[in-house]
Amino acid sequence: MDLAARLTQVDAGIEAAARAVGRDPDRITRIVVTKFHPVSLVEELYALGVRDVGENRQQELSEKTAAVGSLEGLRWHFIGQAQTNKAKAIRAAASVVHSVDRIKIADALDAAAAPDSPALDVLLQVNLTHDPGRGGVVPDELERLAEHVSGCRTLRLRGVMAVAPLDEAPAAAFARLADCSDRVRAVAPEASWISAGMTADYPDAIAAGATHLRIGSAITGPRPAHR
Ligand SMILES: *Cc1c(COP(=O)(O)O)cnc(C)c1O
Repeated sequence: MDLAARLTQVDAGIEAAARAVGRDPDRITRIVVTKFHPVSLVEELYALGVRDVGENRQQELSEKTAAVGSLEGLRWHFIGQAQTNKAKAIRAAASVVHSVDRIKIADALDAAAAPDSPALDVLLQVNLTHDPGRGGVVPDELERLAEHVSGCRTLRLRGVMAVAPLDEAPAAAFARLADCSDRVRAVAPEASWISAGMTADYPDAIAAGATHLRIGSAITGPRPAHR
């Protein structure tokens, strides 16, 4: 199967999963995760109509955005661990940052705004595992982070993001994420995005209300080794 066929197949899967739970598939954004793939893949995806792509490492994001130049309407989503000393580079390249998980990174992204920067859309990454060392804010600290980000002048709080833990049924984890989304919306009513669902679990994420899916290998094929 080639890229176009895999994209069509995943989009059909999204549509079926949405209809199965009475949701409108047009209200779900499918982000194609292009990490480790060459920039030519982004160009091929663009030619197929893809307008949302995701990267999880700042350096690769910066290299690719520089290499493709401006493709009208293409949005880059940063979905990886963000470091404060990379905030400026992330902000310069990404339209959306899904991985704000602490006050320090929110402040760094806020401070990295150029005078003419549009507001940056951000999501709060929630740690759904029992290991506090994993990426994401622990659920107990979610409201505090949401309140802080709401007060950052150049950031627009859009919602929550998570990766399902490996040792748990994704549906159960995504149900907890839906609770987290409710709690964030109690602080910031417009923050209604839920970024969840990857190749292995996107139908469960759709059933749990995901608005943004981050799908890599089902569309791109297997990832090349780390560069
Ligand atoms: C790589 C990655 C994905 C996509 O994973 P696939 O299993 O290839 O669909 C989604 N989200 C994050 C945070 C990732 O790093």
